[in-house]
Amino acid sequence: MPQQMITVDAHVDTCWLATKFAENNPEAPTSNLRQGVPDSELRTEWLNESGPNVIVYALYLSDKLQDELTDDKVADHISDQIAWLRDQIYVHFGGFRQFDMEELQDARNGGYHVMLTALEGGRLIHDDLQYLRALHNRAFIRYLTLTHNRNTTWADSATDVKYHGGLTAFGHEVVALCNELGILVDVSHASDLTAHEAIVASRGPVIASHSGCRAVLDHPRNAPDTLIKMLASTGGGIGIPFARRFVGDSVAGFLTHVQHAVGLVGPDHVFIGSDMDGAALFDEFRDVRDWYHIVVDGLAKLKYSDEDIKKIAGENLVRLLIPETGRTHDSPNNDEPLEALTEDWAEDDSEDSEGGDIF
Ligand SMILES: [Zn+2]
Repeated sequence: MPQQMITVDAHVDTCWLATKFAENNPEAPTSNLRQGVPDSELRTEWLNESGPNVIVYALYLSDKLQDELTDDKVADHISDQIAWLRDQIYVHFGGFRQFDMEELQDARNGGYHVMLTALEGGRLIHDDLQYLRALHNRAFIRYLTLTHNRNTTWADSATDVKYHGGLTAFGHEVVALCNELGILVDVSHASDLTAHEAIVASRGPVIASHSGCRAVLDHPRNAPDTLIKMLASTGGGIGIPFARRFVGDSVAGFLTHVQHAVGLVGPDHVFIGSDMDGAALFDEFRDVRDWYHIVVDGLAKLKYSDEDIKKIAGENLVRLLIPETGRTHDSPNNDEPLEALTEDWAEDDSEDSEGGDIF
């Protein structure tokens, strides 16, 4: 395989793991990737050994914790997760901002791990478009996963009792704002109808960041063939996970899902969204050191061309993470991180003194 290949993972839950650890161990020093967050499948040296070069880290808080906490506290946790990511020494392009292919290639050549963010679960925006805008200004949110395991007030989840029948009028406003800001709409976890409506409504590409194929394994979290085709038609695609519940308990099962999706929509709309540090993964997976072997060697064994492997292992998602030149949305300005925060969400950001250095 070409050494310059950029490998990308669309969905990892390490921030949540770090938050849980901090919640349960208030006296313990803050965990980090270098020493490893307890129970994490990620660690600096493992990432450097054979992990993906770029990872999109989900900002996420369980529904249970959101039930227990005030909205302010929930927002604090998300701020803490962003701060936690900033505290790791990896490249996030000088404060989570728009970046280009050259920078990404430089990071790859320099052996740097690139960290990006996504927001998992639309409930976390607290029905407040201004908050989503402000969060994007701070953390350059690459996509919004519309729901998690439960419905939001404006979108149905795949794993809850259907209530809205899809997206509400406010849900359409959320999708429109995502389009405006260049945040990809992510329909993993959403009900089929919600996903369908979001795809029709969205002016930008739509993805399922970590879902398998329902035709291979029948689970409401997996995408039916029609939906996978619709995602591809937006220019987006599907990120196949390593999660046993969605792809079965072996690497072979995972590869079957990749093959099925590629069979449906070709090699340009399939990528990897492992769900490391979130879901229980198949047995052969030890930790992130196995990522390259599972994905790249796995696809090579199936006789995929080098070109197609490069696409599935990274390029397809890179294309979506780095919007093409000429796209109309503005890229957020990290120099004014709290500009758009409404009063309700104003908070002390004094620790947030990240400079503009890239590495
Ligand atoms: Zn998830």
